[in-house]
Amino acid sequence: MHRRNGGIVARRLPTRGQWLLLGVFGLSAVAAFGIAPDTTLDSAPVTLVERVLPAPVIAPEDVAAVYWREERVQRGDTIGSLLARAGVDDPPAMSYLRSAPEARPIYQLRPGRAVHVGVDDEGDLVALRFRTVGNDELTIARTDDGFRTERSVPSEEVRTTLRSGEIRSSLFGAADAAGIPDQVIIALADVFAADIDFYHDVRKGDRFTVVYETRFIDGEPAGTGRILAAEFVNDGHAYRAFQWRDGAGNVGYYGDEGRASRSAFLRSPLEFSRVTSGFTMARFHPLLRTWREHKGVDYAAPTGTSVRATADGTVTFAGWQNGYGNVIFIRHQGAYSTVYGHLSKLAANLKVGDKIAQGDTIGYVGMTGWATGPHLHYEFRIADQPHDPLALDLPVAEPVTPERYAAFREGIAPLVESLMLARSLPGTSLAARE
Ligand SMILES: [Zn+2]
Repeated sequence: MHRRNGGIVARRLPTRGQWLLLGVFGLSAVAAFGIAPDTTLDSAPVTLVERVLPAPVIAPEDVAAVYWREERVQRGDTIGSLLARAGVDDPPAMSYLRSAPEARPIYQLRPGRAVHVGVDDEGDLVALRFRTVGNDELTIARTDDGFRTERSVPSEEVRTTLRSGEIRSSLFGAADAAGIPDQVIIALADVFAADIDFYHDVRKGDRFTVVYETRFIDGEPAGTGRILAAEFVNDGHAYRAFQWRDGAGNVGYYGDEGRASRSAFLRSPLEFSRVTSGFTMARFHPLLRTWREHKGVDYAAPTGTSVRATADGTVTFAGWQNGYGNVIFIRHQGAYSTVYGHLSKLAANLKVGDKIAQGDTIGYVGMTGWATGPHLHYEFRIADQPHDPLALDLPVAEPVTPERYAAFREGIAPLVESLMLARSLPGTSLAARE
């Protein structure tokens, strides 16, 4: 099927997903012709590049030329059908793949995953390379007396991305426009959860900048990681947070002046998500009263949306009360307590006396009691008197200690600069250090 050409295989380079790699085994590296790694959102014309792949773990000795083909696992595939597509006709190889325990990971591959198949001119299998479900690189190669499987950890790289957005309709809309993944925006809402109620406070014209990490494995994006720094300008007030490891090794977020972003209380008892962010109060507006009259804050959200405890505490009531419907009362440190009403149901096994941690799911949004639409009724009480939680300055966690303050300032300096840079640039999106 293929002609060898003086030991080097020369072929046309067809479209993506067909022949990917051509080369000569037995050298220290395999020269590879591939498609440029598809790591950006750009729709630039595809270009052919040459890059050196890591040397195969096992280099078969007496094979001169290997034809590499990339095959994607298809729905309903067997190892036999996948190898047949790659032109392999090799019963001993099939028998090894079927019986060797170390080759089992190939059976765990889901449709869409790539397998690189190396074949000689006889149609015999020379080597197989693929990424396992756990993302290790597995190479199965022919040896003098059979086959061997070796596992290696692929090269991992972390890149830092800086992006900015301005809110026109919603936070998620702005994130989409700036090309920021959902996980990053949810993490951003979490970083500022003590300062901003992303459900009620976000305004048209608010701006934000986020510096976050993206992991790449062998050049392919493999998920977003931590937020390193972020700024959110809400209604003209700028909040900033920088990730910092304190003396005890705890990682937290702190403002420029070392004030902790983490608070004893979350601003919002509803988990922030695409669904809750788009939900408005309009649907049951006729029943809305001012905070002063009804002593709580309402969060309209679909029935079943998770309700979380805004602070650590102890459950003092969990059950039915007139008006509130299914309701939970939690007592917190000092004189604070919170109330969560109209729930469709309580979290499984929740009962009086339970210790609850901040962020724990305690129940689900509903419309039990006096409610004309699904919503959470939330009360914040000090010494049993309701207060407007959106207007309170809530207690925060420990700031950076004075001894560590200089190191903190020095550590965050490059990130402060990045945020300043983002402020001075026009437009909503830029990529830095990518
Ligand atoms: Zn209410």
